[in-house]
Amino acid sequence: MSWKRNYFASGGGGGMQGILTPRTMTSIAPSKGLSNEPGQNSCFLNSALQVLWHLDIFRRSFRQLTSHKCMEDSCIFCALKNIFAQFQYSSEKVLPTDALRSALAKSFQDEQRFQLGIMDDAAECFENILMRIHFHIADESKEDICTARRCIPHQKFAMTLFEQCVCSSCGASSDPLPFIQMVHYISTTSLCNQAVKMLESREKATPSMFGELLRNASMGDLRSCPSQCGQQLRMARVLLNSPEIITIGLVWDSDHSDLAEDVIHSLGTCLRLGDLFYRVTEEKARQAELYLVGMVCYYGKHYSTFFFQTKVRRWMYFDDAHVKEVLSCLEWAECGAVRDSCWRNVPENHQEVLQLLTLS
Ligand SMILES: [Zn+2]
Ligand SMILES: [Zn+2]
Ligand SMILES: [Zn+2]
Repeated sequence: MSWKRNYFASGGGGGMQGILTPRTMTSIAPSKGLSNEPGQNSCFLNSALQVLWHLDIFRRSFRQLTSHKCMEDSCIFCALKNIFAQFQYSSEKVLPTDALRSALAKSFQDEQRFQLGIMDDAAECFENILMRIHFHIADESKEDICTARRCIPHQKFAMTLFEQCVCSSCGASSDPLPFIQMVHYISTTSLCNQAVKMLESREKATPSMFGELLRNASMGDLRSCPSQCGQQLRMARVLLNSPEIITIGLVWDSDHSDLAEDVIHSLGTCLRLGDLFYRVTEEKARQAELYLVGMVCYYGKHYSTFFFQTKVRRWMYFDDAHVKEVLSCLEWAECGAVRDSCWRNVPENHQEVLQLLTLS
């Protein structure tokens, strides 16, 4: 489907190239590899960890936290503090993640998730680490109504939403369903179908297209009007807060999808929250533009990560112990080509499973 590739390559990538110059970043996030010895199967955790370390907003906020409800040898907070200190100060190029791996296994022993030696899901690991941080620092607040200012997961990552269907024909609406999500999951099959539909109906890609594409792809199946007027409707999602980091999770039907390449080429690098949701209530969120800073990919039971290092303005590739630079990106103008350049570094059919976008 090279027509699609050309289409997005020319105008895609958010379509904002050359207009925006992000402010200078001063934080240093030294890059190091993370070990994964045979039998450890820790690549899912290594990917989640590289994401957390390289997210400037998370790293800087987490550094300021000290007091927490400590769980001793199963304390994910302490294990994360420890590995972050090593990222910052260790002279080793490759760091062991055993302490965090073991704290994670102990914390999730009852659920039988993330157990030692067993491969697990990187997106769910990332999400669960965030929820454990909430537990360690804001346990007094419930997960679904947490307003604790020091709770980085809920203050920076959480999307507070409600979902409702409203009939444009008879005006009836379903009861609004409120919920909080850390990761916005989207089916890649639905994403590809929508990409094809959207391209058929317009002449060229526009800046709003990436958000609209994600919005259309996450609306789910048609359902009947709540007052049974005969209309078929889709759920609309309304965003009630202004998250600084948006995490998109891509859900694949199978490990070896022939959609992999199509999906990559239907994704941009600049996202407006106003395009992603049906309605956005906060003015700050309506104005917000977020930029792609990281991606986790999956192939052959193995996860690896691309991340943009703001200090050195380079895209780096992290594959457990191995770290390499894939692209220097001095201007956002060059970022339209980011995905293409990144993906050229991994064998064909790698699937993108997680993408991180942040306010610049
Ligand atoms: Zn602790
Ligand atoms: Zn919280
Ligand atoms: Zn109706």
